[in-house]
Amino acid sequence: MPAKTISIMGLMDLFGDEAKSVAWLEKIRWQGKPTCPHCNNSDHIVVRKGKRFTYRHKACRKEFTVKTKTIMRGSNLPIQRWLIAMYLAMTARKGISSLQLSKELGITQKTSWFMLQRIREICKQGDSGFMLKGIVEIDETYIGGKEDNRHANKKRKGSQGGSGKAIVLGMRERGGSVKAMQIDNASNSALNKALQGHIKRSATICTDEWRGYAGISGYTHRMANHSAKRHVDGSAHANGIESVWAALKRGFCGTYHQFSAKRLDRYANESTFRLNKGNCAIDTIDRVSALVRNAGDKGLTYKGLIGD
Ligand SMILES: [Zn+2]
Repeated sequence: MPAKTISIMGLMDLFGDEAKSVAWLEKIRWQGKPTCPHCNNSDHIVVRKGKRFTYRHKACRKEFTVKTKTIMRGSNLPIQRWLIAMYLAMTARKGISSLQLSKELGITQKTSWFMLQRIREICKQGDSGFMLKGIVEIDETYIGGKEDNRHANKKRKGSQGGSGKAIVLGMRERGGSVKAMQIDNASNSALNKALQGHIKRSATICTDEWRGYAGISGYTHRMANHSAKRHVDGSAHANGIESVWAALKRGFCGTYHQFSAKRLDRYANESTFRLNKGNCAIDTIDRVSALVRNAGDKGLTYKGLIGD
């Protein structure tokens, strides 16, 4: 069954005003039963009189809203705006720029930029909890600097140090999900480390013959030989990863004009999250639900965002 998209009218029904938006979010986060985020308990919760959308947990005596301990905490923005921002970020094929989002929501670009950074952060958390399996294609790409090319030029791989390029490592499970993350360099130890956390030991990995991959241990490993213009093993190619780079670069070139290599990792997360949720025929509104279920706060502050 193809994924259902939601009409503007449908969106208005869900997020037409703050009360509707809060009700929707409470249903998604708490299955309708307010749960104290301070102690994870849903007993003895009362509505706080005189404070909109606020609850009080009698047992721990703390107050909370559906925003507490999520990426929305500490933000004065209505939940309605957050949800619409997430919807736009999840459904725009190329992502949405902070400038465009600021216009859509009638907020400053500084605020919309902050929202997008936080949304990207939960994309990362949402995608971090699973491991790729089966046949996994792996490749890396170099972004920034004068050129914006894949590693077709092998010489570049060994000379990353002063090039000013950022490296993104991509992994694609054939017929399954994708992951992408920024890595410091394409050395054997950096690649080994990146793979361990994201690919199951039982998987078969497919890479090119870059020496950084040659020393990968712990996996069945098929290597494609590009320089000899043939494949050592016909099934060893990592061609499927192209779609990840395509999505990533569409975003960079088309949307994120003020792209910063420092924040590449978050762009990569947003891009793969959209790919993963978009590829498996998930209805558009369910993508937003998937996002808010992961909206737990990991202490991301404005200072933390701009300082890294
Ligand atoms: Zn409590």
